[in-house]
Amino acid sequence: MSSRSEELFAKACELIPGGVNSPVRACHNVRSTPLFIARGQGAHLFDLDGNEYVDFVLSWGPMILGHADPEVTRAVAEAATRGTSYGAPCEDEVTLARMVTQALPSVEMVRMVNSGTEATMSALRLARGYTGRNKLVKFVGCYHGHADAFLAAAGSGVATFSIPGTPGVPQSVVADTLLAPYNDLAAVEELFKTRGEDIAAVIVEPVAANMGLVLPAEGFLQGLRDLTSKYGALLIFDEVITGFRLAYSGAQGRFGITPDLTTFGKIIGGGLPVGAFGGKAEIMRHVAPRGEVYQAGTLSGNPLAMAAGLATLNKLQGMDYAGLEEKTHAFAGELEAILRSKGVPVQVHTIASMFTPYFSADPVESFSDVQKCDQELFTTFYKQMREQGIYLAPSAFETGMVSFVHTDEDFARALDAARRVTF
Ligand SMILES: *Cc1c(COP(=O)(O)O)cnc(C)c1O
Repeated sequence: MSSRSEELFAKACELIPGGVNSPVRACHNVRSTPLFIARGQGAHLFDLDGNEYVDFVLSWGPMILGHADPEVTRAVAEAATRGTSYGAPCEDEVTLARMVTQALPSVEMVRMVNSGTEATMSALRLARGYTGRNKLVKFVGCYHGHADAFLAAAGSGVATFSIPGTPGVPQSVVADTLLAPYNDLAAVEELFKTRGEDIAAVIVEPVAANMGLVLPAEGFLQGLRDLTSKYGALLIFDEVITGFRLAYSGAQGRFGITPDLTTFGKIIGGGLPVGAFGGKAEIMRHVAPRGEVYQAGTLSGNPLAMAAGLATLNKLQGMDYAGLEEKTHAFAGELEAILRSKGVPVQVHTIASMFTPYFSADPVESFSDVQKCDQELFTTFYKQMREQGIYLAPSAFETGMVSFVHTDEDFARALDAARRVTF
């Protein structure tokens, strides 16, 4: 007998490409079909068949306060009674901008957009407009949304020129995207030595959370800061995931590095479609209409989205990030011990409220290391966890997310489920 999720997915596949509105959701990698969600409450999701899950995806990051947080819900509902979009300024835009600039000292001015993709795309345009240079350095395995310039894949090692990572992106569009392996400062230095005068920016996830969870090696981020400063290029921290998660002050606050530009998404919108990019006023002044670099949006600064973001940041200011990290760390450690006791090669990476089990015995410090992990073991793990009500990201390349409302019981349920997994 098929479930309502399976029936609906079959229908969806006739109407929506692949049945989903964002690819990984299709659960293709793990040879499963997606669950259709009826509602979320706290750290739990309920599917259309009435099954309950402990949610370690959290909408891929935004729901750090859990689903349907009462304060966020109230703020959005109240905002909706005042109209859902004006296409004119509203007070909450200014309040949210002030909260962001107070949270991250490197951000003196900020522009609201509607997604992380828009944020990175716009930050890149600004970096190019500001420096008068075209080339971009990005790291293999870092994800910066789906704008053309970021969708370049490399062969092994440092590519001298980029190959588009998807049909539909012309070679000419990624010709200016230079690639380096994550954590490989020497490769970046080499790019600067040969093309330093053409490089507008280096963009990096300060903690790489789109190839599982790869931590920056000691000195890597500072090295990027030094190199970009030396060659007059901008350093862009893509904090779409790490912003308000690694710490309230983001990865830059935690690691003490000052980027020129920062991009936001996910948590900043409290579950509504929001992104933002910001940085030094001297650079941000070049954005239209103050400056000449064009960027716009019909729904940007949307009152509902601003209300959700504001309520979320307001609440996060008083939250115990260190306590959440401790809980996540303990959970990740126990999960690793349980899986290892089954004789599979595994290591669980963790920082702040994120974790990723890598099924590999070797160190994982870059995308090529990630690719050597055992996908079959991950698929087995994913499926059996899901059957037991533990909802994990359906890909070995994603990061597990923990919220402030996950309880000891939630963690215990997940660990019990892990104990029952057979490989
Ligand atoms: C999710 C993500 C993006 C893209 O954000 P969307 O809102 O999905 O467009 C960009 N950068 C990073 C680091 C992300 O994790």
